[in-house]
Amino acid sequence: MPHRSQLPAKDRTARSRLMQLLAAAKPLARASLVTMARSCGKKGCKCAQGEKHVSLYLAARLGKTRKMLYVPPDLEDLARSLVENVQRVDKLIDEMSQASLEGFVQKKARSEEPIRSRERRPRS
Ligand SMILES: [Zn+2]
Repeated sequence: MPHRSQLPAKDRTARSRLMQLLAAAKPLARASLVTMARSCGKKGCKCAQGEKHVSLYLAARLGKTRKMLYVPPDLEDLARSLVENVQRVDKLIDEMSQASLEGFVQKKARSEEPIRSRERRPRS
């Protein structure tokens, strides 16, 4: 089987997709989208009767602290794409990791073959 690199095919596929993704230079953020229902405290507001204000937040680490960043309605699409883009990157890195680990396990099995054949004596 001819191959140009030491990497398994699965890894190379994920890697080239990752490179395309990074080349597109889309912003990404390691964050989660959270919706929260709150009451504003204004007298006579619908939220006082239990119909709370539902808003979207980005839960993320900013510097050393975790923040809940309010997402204004006109920035919801951007906030969603930030999270989706980092998830795509993570998924591809995970595929590369799995492929490399599978490769490692196969390599290890090959290098352990002589040892295994030596271990024919019964276990204590
Ligand atoms: Zn209110």
